[in-house]
Amino acid sequence: MALEFTYSSKKFDDMISVEEALAIIENHTVDLGSEEIPYSEANGRVLDEDILADRPLPPFHRATMDGICISLKDWETGMRTFPVFGEQFAGAPQQTLKLGSCMEIMTGAVVPENANVVIRYEDVTIENSIATVHADSITEMMNIHLTGTDAEEGEVLVEKGKRISHGDIGILTSVGKTTVRVKEHPKVAIISTGDELVEPEEKPLPHQIRKSNVYTLCSLLRDQGLEFELFHINDELEEIKKALDRILNDFNLILLSGGVSKGKRDFIPEALESHGVKKHFHRIKQRPGKPLWFGSNDRVTVFGFPGNPVSTIACYTVYCRHWLNRSLGLPSNAIHAQLTEDIHFPKELTFFVHVALSYEQGTVKAKSLRGNGSGDLVSLSKADGFIELPADQSHFKKGEVYRVYLF
Ligand code: AMP
Ligand code: MG
Repeated sequence: MALEFTYSSKKFDDMISVEEALAIIENHTVDLGSEEIPYSEANGRVLDEDILADRPLPPFHRATMDGICISLKDWETGMRTFPVFGEQFAGAPQQTLKLGSCMEIMTGAVVPENANVVIRYEDVTIENSIATVHADSITEMMNIHLTGTDAEEGEVLVEKGKRISHGDIGILTSVGKTTVRVKEHPKVAIISTGDELVEPEEKPLPHQIRKSNVYTLCSLLRDQGLEFELFHINDELEEIKKALDRILNDFNLILLSGGVSKGKRDFIPEALESHGVKKHFHRIKQRPGKPLWFGSNDRVTVFGFPGNPVSTIACYTVYCRHWLNRSLGLPSNAIHAQLTEDIHFPKELTFFVHVALSYEQGTVKAKSLRGNGSGDLVSLSKADGFIELPADQSHFKKGEVYRVYLF
């Protein structure tokens, strides 16, 4: 049995396709500039410089085992017992091995001058300061991590444009990059609109609801390491214009929720355009999130999300997250996954279905979580993203592969 979805038949002539909308977004990405930040805050940021080795890695011939070190020359003369003269510890300056003897050496220590073999304690017995080696054969530079074998001085260790990972923090610190140049993040304002909305801390009156989707947006942005300020505006044209006056000056990415549909108090598009924010598109042939509004001026980019919680999250995930990634020079947040069941949906709209992903034998599977209409906020709790079912098809079969936009 296929999942069946229906919709009321309407004309979609005043709308653009998802592909057109994504192309417009791509054409309106911005260069966010760069800034210097401490390495301790760099995780998840996008590098705007190459990270170079400040000296060879490792910086000296380094012992990789605890044991003794000798000279291969002595071994080749047939010596198998060595008087122990001294110890070379990690963190101590390089000493010199007296030929005809051995030194004890610890992992991480500089290999002494004249030494070129490290033999692990497991292959040695030491009694009365005489070490006897039980190994049958040894090789030059055994158990030694040679200078410069990981990287030469000046070599690029991490390339500009990469998102800084946990491993990269280790690299930054090991080469002494205490501050690092990264792509700047936009200054984000998140604005809820709607007379019916109250804060989560409040008890709503029978005709009111608690705000939720702006807090979902906050959480999605935090996940990307972005900071933001929150605002609320009521559905009054003058109030909206006044608030936008300030917000358009102070921020360069503005995410609005609600007020972009065809209701009598959906004033957002009018207010934005009256403030010189140019509309790039309004309304897309898609479900959910048809009324999405997107525009910009020379310094601010604005997304007007439809207020319905699933619409807001879908539009953020498919369009805003894409805009952010592309503006930061990162790849898209889309992957591909296989449907786990048939879905039937009439064809004129692209259908974004929130899905839970799983892995089966190396294949990513997408299970639809969408049961009853676009108000299905609760099922979002299990979702990983939205699968894109194209508008020119109406039957989507189990096993077929489609694009999935990840949160
Ligand atoms: P609108 O896009 O303003 O017409 O709102 C569409 C629907 O989404 C209405 O039922 C609103 O009450 C609801 N809505 C708008 N904003 C929010 C919000 N921040 N959190 C939860 N629901 C919202
Ligand atoms: Mg509203």
